[in-house]
Amino acid sequence: MEQRERAWTIYNRLIERFGRPEFDGCGEPVDELIATILSANTNDANSGRAFDQLKARFGDDWDAVRLAPLEAIKEAIRPAGMYNQKAPAIVNTLERIKADRGNYDLSHLATMDAAAALAYLTRLPGVGHKTASIVILFCFNGATFPVDTHIQRISQRLGISSRKASPAAVKADWESLLPPETFYALHINLIRHGRRICQALNPRCDSCPLQSECDFFRGAGAWRQNERPGDTTPARI
Ligand code: SF4
Repeated sequence: MEQRERAWTIYNRLIERFGRPEFDGCGEPVDELIATILSANTNDANSGRAFDQLKARFGDDWDAVRLAPLEAIKEAIRPAGMYNQKAPAIVNTLERIKADRGNYDLSHLATMDAAAALAYLTRLPGVGHKTASIVILFCFNGATFPVDTHIQRISQRLGISSRKASPAAVKADWESLLPPETFYALHINLIRHGRRICQALNPRCDSCPLQSECDFFRGAGAWRQNERPGDTTPARI
């Protein structure tokens, strides 16, 4: 099956299994940005707790966060881990936005195309490509496809991307195969699929709707049968 057709099949099967997530926007884009910075290298529960504590301590006053002693921010965001790096990243990002805009309103990004919005956000200190993509997709339904570890792993197993593909390569693969209006639902459903079925160590292939499209399941492409996760048999070279 041609790769584009395969991508559509995957998209549609995930909709059948998990439903069609409808884009409903975010609250304040700057909130989404800070929450996403906090989410690096931790789970949603921990980053959510850190964000809630930051809000409980400083309210909606991002000036107060920007001007607060770093130790107070670290204390508030401690549940997110890496607070020694994340606290200065947040402050530096807020400083840059304030200097650029005079406030913390990022709604101007809605009027930019995705490439320009990505370029603006990734110039902010502490904001990488994944964080910027998440803000653009979740706040503006922009034409960018963020790739997390679930999406990277699943895309490699399916054969949509090469076995060693970087997140940037996986992003480029999906963006070349499907139109932007699919990105929001696809992103959410691939993460659901990764959490519930195509798990890192023991994928539940028996109940997977993507079997027929999966190189890993069929032992095709770059995947050999004896290299499935959970299979301890050493690979034959
Ligand atoms: S068949 Fe298995 S490895 Fe392939 S996508 Fe489904 S759960 Fe993942």
